Amino acid sequence: MPIVSQRIVIAGIGLIGGSFALALRRAGFDGQITGVGRDEKALRRAVERGICNDYSRSIAEVAGDADLVMHAVPMGAMDDLLAQLAGSVAEHTVITDAGSVKQSFIDAAGRHFTNLQHIVPAHPIAGTEHSGVEAGFDSLFDNRRVIVTPLATSSAAAVTEVAELWRATGASVEQMAPRRHDDVFAAISHLPHVAAFSLVETLHRIDQEEEVLRFAAGGFSDFTRIASSDPVMWRDICLHNRSAVLDVLGQYRACLDELHQAIDNADSASIEQMFSRAKSARDAYLQAASDSIQESK
Ligand code: NAP
Repeated sequence: MPIVSQRIVIAGIGLIGGSFALALRRAGFDGQITGVGRDEKALRRAVERGICNDYSRSIAEVAGDADLVMHAVPMGAMDDLLAQLAGSVAEHTVITDAGSVKQSFIDAAGRHFTNLQHIVPAHPIAGTEHSGVEAGFDSLFDNRRVIVTPLATSSAAAVTEVAELWRATGASVEQMAPRRHDDVFAAISHLPHVAAFSLVETLHRIDQEEEVLRFAAGGFSDFTRIASSDPVMWRDICLHNRSAVLDVLGQYRACLDELHQAIDNADSASIEQMFSRAKSARDAYLQAASDSIQESK
């Protein structure tokens, strides 16, 4: 299906919003893209980089004639932007987002809109630990998945439009129920980030003089790369998916307690069993991932 939108507003022209715009341009999109943000210097830079044609610091000022508005801001900024949008957007405008938590965006939309036909939340499963206007690049979504989590009220045309835009960026599109999405990503994305941040924080507390960290090598970098991610974005994700994150964090803590106990008891069988199960699970996952890449070639 061809893309219908000609005027797109992107709130947040950082890693995700910037990459979305650049990937659409790469695909030949020649409509108008307007960037929205708070920092005028970054917005000017977004125009220089070809991310957007023009910009505004007020979403209400530019949303009136938009065909589609994409929210690519931290989760904590979504509610306020949706509130501003509610008074300014046309009836037909498709409203979507790229946020990492879906139910919270839907709840915010429900607070500010009575007609939810044009609301289509989505989450690209792609990213890096970099953020801001310089971070975006046009191939970020190539061969990545985007999860669309339509509402029961979302119109088929709006869902198709959002899916087609993401396909144009190079991604494949899947659908999922919003709460299921939030549970799955609490486990496979939010927990690893919390674990990486807290591991580095632990080492920092042990090692104020950085004597220990001086010896850190490849394994430490591999495991902790995601602790270089944006703290505000991850603070917001934890708070906006609080109950699912607390649930998996509780399970992780129980697993750590079990390991602590086994080490304390010098229980070599339990330690080895746990490590062996984890190794098998990871090896099987990597094998399945590599098989699925081969199949898709
Ligand atoms: P980012 O690089 O930090 O970009 C966020 C942008 O939002 C910035 O350009 C910032 O510009 C703007 N912004 C922040 N608060 C704002 C506000 N109140 N009003 C208007 N603009 C505001 O972050 P990102 O990585 O692109 O993440 C954006 C969204 O995508 C988040 O919801 C995140 O959960 C989701 N996501 C991220 C990843 C990832 O790996 N990074 C992956 C998938 C989904 P100003 O400072 O100029 O306002």
